[in-house]
Amino acid sequence: MTSISGKTDIDWTAFAADLAPVETITEPVLIKKRSRDFFWYSPILNAALKRCFGDLVARPKTPEEMAHTLAVAYAHDAPVVVRGGGTGNYGQAVPMAGGLIIDTTAMAGVTEIGDGQVTALAGTLMADINAALAPSGQEMAMFPSTQDIATIGGFVAGGSAGIGSVANGALRDPGNLIALTALSVEEMPRARVFEGEDTLHIHHAWGLNGVITDVTLRTVPKRDWVGCIVTFDAYETAYAAGHAIALAEDIAAKLVTTVDARICAYFPKLEGHIRAGKHLLVSMIPAEDRAAFEALTQGHGGQIDLMLTDAERRALGLPHVFDFSYNHTTLQVLKADRSATYQQVGCPVPPDPAAIAALRPKLGDDVWMHHEFARVGGDIVTFDLPIIWFTSPERLAEINDTYEANGFPVYDAHTWNVEGGGLKADYTHLAWKKRMDPKGLLNSPKSRFWDAVKHLSPEDIAAKGDAT
Ligand SMILES: Cc1cc2nc3c(=O)[nH]c(=O)nc-3n(C[C@H](O)[C@H](O)[C@H](O)COP(=O)(O)OP(=O)(O)OC[C@H]3O[C@@H](n4cnc5c(N)ncnc54)[C@H](O)[C@@H]3O)c2cc1C
Repeated sequence: MTSISGKTDIDWTAFAADLAPVETITEPVLIKKRSRDFFWYSPILNAALKRCFGDLVARPKTPEEMAHTLAVAYAHDAPVVVRGGGTGNYGQAVPMAGGLIIDTTAMAGVTEIGDGQVTALAGTLMADINAALAPSGQEMAMFPSTQDIATIGGFVAGGSAGIGSVANGALRDPGNLIALTALSVEEMPRARVFEGEDTLHIHHAWGLNGVITDVTLRTVPKRDWVGCIVTFDAYETAYAAGHAIALAEDIAAKLVTTVDARICAYFPKLEGHIRAGKHLLVSMIPAEDRAAFEALTQGHGGQIDLMLTDAERRALGLPHVFDFSYNHTTLQVLKADRSATYQQVGCPVPPDPAAIAALRPKLGDDVWMHHEFARVGGDIVTFDLPIIWFTSPERLAEINDTYEANGFPVYDAHTWNVEGGGLKADYTHLAWKKRMDPKGLLNSPKSRFWDAVKHLSPEDIAAKGDAT
């Protein structure tokens, strides 16, 4: 079998034979499909990554088969990319150096449900975890809006926060990520358990420093959620109401999102259900908090257009309200027009509607705001995930500069470096890569600094401190 990527000189037929009994996929079309994720959200990443392909796909079903797969890769010096649902946005699961793609989705299942925690194999879909938890009266503390196709291993290795984060914090906040097991890539792969704060060495390292086989996460009591969409005349009023909901002691919201009216024109499924041309506040609240929610939003001048239990939503044939939050908002626009893209931007803390109002005219008509409210380190913060009508890298840089100059830090969504997005600011993840992946087989080109430090000991890599 010749190399599809054109980047390896490994005998892939012999490699596949060595993998037995692990299932493999050898059809080039399917390998190419599994070489992609949602990097095409970014025209910059699309140009850089669309021709990066792997050479073979392996589908281990158990941690033992995963260990065997990694041992074979080690023996052949094969580059390895681990892949869950492939819903990441930064080309996280794209094989930059060709080689083996390990699809984790066959290694799935909830293994233990406790009081306040759940353990699942890395390839388990998050919607399946939530379904398995329901009979015990629990649910995941947070999940991304891609829960139907995204895996728990991919969320821990590539994600950061999601629906539930306004109540329960980001994934990295204490108590949310309780433990994980990761395999090293060595002649005899070792399983290492990371607990508590130590899980952060592997969290959001994009699969560069160990292969996660199982994860233990915090769960919270299950509630009967009501999906709400409230419309407002002014964006900053929707934002102010969002802040008030996030802070309200009598409203235990699981989601608070605000969306510029111009974006809502790309939500055809909501046509006829919400007032046209208005700015949105999207929220999920417990059924018993409806009266408090109504009073608060109406007090801010909002009109409640939708307030539906899940059964009512299904009867109307409407999507979940979280399909209009996080990166699903961007997806709704991209479905209609591929010239849109997005950015990830922090906002002044505490949230300040006046700062948002002052910034809007400075950004220009090609930037349409969309904010997510979350609790990070105990504080309510917001992130802007704006729709940007892309014209050139120079204009994108100018938009970034405008945000930054006004006190809104940009966490660049158009980079394929793990160090580029702001969460891996020192060398700790690379010290762990040296320990867990001494040959540097786990998609090393995704790290801006690996080549410069790979000859050092883990201790010397860690001692390098700040990487920015
Ligand atoms: C429409 C849309 C909405 C989204 N909403 C959110 C959101 O609300 N919050 C959020 O955080 N993200 C969000 N994302 C990003 C992404 O969906 C999530 O992070 C998701 O959890 C990734 O899971 P996955 O299984 O698809 O991972 P993949 O994309 O397959 O992988 C992500 C990264 O993890 C690595 N990886 C996967 N499995 C393992 C493993 N077992 N061991 C080691 N490394 C591994 C991969 O190599 C890759 O680097 C969104 C993306 C889209 C397209």
